[in-house]
Amino acid sequence: AISLCGGHQGGADRLARTISQYLQAMPVLTGAANHQQLPALDLLGQPFGWRRGAGDWTAVSSALARGGPIQIIQEGGSKLWRQTLPTDAPVQFDWPQWSEQKREVRPQPQARVWISPIQRRFSDAADMPKVQWHPRVLWVGLGCERGSDRALMDWAIGQLCQTHHLAPAAIAGVASLDLKADEIGLLELCEQHPWPLRLFTAEQLQTIPVPNPSDTVIQAVGTPSVAEAAAIAAAHQASLPISAPPADGPNPDRLRVSKQVYRHPDYDGAVTLAVAQADWEWVGRSGQLALVGTGPGSLDQITPAAQAAITQADGVIGYQLYIDLIRPLFRPGQLVEAWPITQERQRAERAIALARWGLSIAVISSGDCGIYAMAGLVLETLQVQGWDGQTPAVTSYPGISALQAAAARVGAPLMHDFCAISLSDLLTPWLVIEQRLRAAATADFVVALYNPKSQKRTQQIAIAQGIFAEQRSPDTPVALVRSAYRPDERIILTTVAAMLDHPIDMLTTVIIGNRSTQQYHDTLITPRGYCPGPKQGA
Ligand code: SAH
Repeated sequence: AISLCGGHQGGADRLARTISQYLQAMPVLTGAANHQQLPALDLLGQPFGWRRGAGDWTAVSSALARGGPIQIIQEGGSKLWRQTLPTDAPVQFDWPQWSEQKREVRPQPQARVWISPIQRRFSDAADMPKVQWHPRVLWVGLGCERGSDRALMDWAIGQLCQTHHLAPAAIAGVASLDLKADEIGLLELCEQHPWPLRLFTAEQLQTIPVPNPSDTVIQAVGTPSVAEAAAIAAAHQASLPISAPPADGPNPDRLRVSKQVYRHPDYDGAVTLAVAQADWEWVGRSGQLALVGTGPGSLDQITPAAQAAITQADGVIGYQLYIDLIRPLFRPGQLVEAWPITQERQRAERAIALARWGLSIAVISSGDCGIYAMAGLVLETLQVQGWDGQTPAVTSYPGISALQAAAARVGAPLMHDFCAISLSDLLTPWLVIEQRLRAAATADFVVALYNPKSQKRTQQIAIAQGIFAEQRSPDTPVALVRSAYRPDERIILTTVAAMLDHPIDMLTTVIIGNRSTQQYHDTLITPRGYCPGPKQGA
């Protein structure tokens, strides 16, 4: 699948990768950055809703293609994108450290990327090519006389940006007092850009410390500040979805421009503006969660739909081992967070926070995401948070679960009624598990045991074996399938009587046959029908 034109901004590279997943073809991407496993510089901020500013993008991109180094100076917005760079990426962060001899201790950069709400002008005679990205971190607090023109507000914001060297593209949104919910000019302003409008009550605003409180404003609307307080409140709020709220609450240090009053002879009214900066940028999209099952291990056992969902996501979150198994599906510039095995709940919370913020996140589990895996945790957590069922949008991509994978490697043991029981009593009381084992054994289900044994949990599998030994004949076939479809796969066919004589661990699925299951050569066969024996010819 060849990305012919519009590879970066047009999205053709991404499309070529997605189509390749469906067709099992190879994406042919000719951009230099791809070749170096680097994110393209002109796409760097796209997942986070940054706006591209002025500069010579072609020259900076070619400097990177030549091996840089590229100097990157960031004055606002999240730094998550840094995780997407390979460790040997030819980039330098911030300003150089100077040695004692006052000589620069690192190679001369060939180009510079600014990530900043500040608007910079680059002259043609500059020492090196430069570009600027503008993360949308600025919240404009706005107070106005009733009936002020939309054009006045636009002009005033333009003036303010110019005076303070702020990029209009870095504006996240507008904040004001709730009394302004029907202020026509303000509503038009927000609709036109479009900017989100954050409204606060006088009670909320009056508690926020500001540099320029006013008695007149208190008397008019019941808070000493509208523009400054609302800007700070909105910038504070915009920093909440990802990080814990700062202990000290809305902080006046966030203010970048304190209040300024604007009037213009051609327009009606007067506006007061202030600007505060948020830690996290406004992404401006509603996020998505993909709950993806990556199957037992090898890439060709993952559905094309699941592969495409992984490749398309802005970020992928999962347990380290599973992340490593699907590494070839990742693309440069993708956020990949590999977590330790235990912290499932934190993993779910992190994925939700990033999706609420506006990213598309794939949460991966081995096998099926909805079987002893992350899907339930993510949905439970969303429920606790009062999710509206729509934002973020949640889509599941089923995968081949361990019981299917293990069964496929040993014939057809799951041919008839079967059940899965996890022996892990970390999240389920052991008594419940034991009851289920007894019920399944009595009811003659074929049983797949997940999480059969860990280094610490060694007794559970012995108790389970005892329960089945009581109900089924000692030579009932048992399959111990370890790491199915992975390079270190190991399969042992044994019996209920002898199963504990073989190694069993956390990478093993144990399949115990029912009363009719037979071993024939290297396969287990559970008959399809209820009535044993060939009936057709009779
Ligand atoms: N969501 C996964 C199950 C996770 S619980 C799924 O649907 O398959 C983890 C347990 O799954 C392991 O302890 C093991 O019992 C089983 N398992 C996962 N991958 C396996 C594989 N490739 N081969 C055998 N068993 C596996």
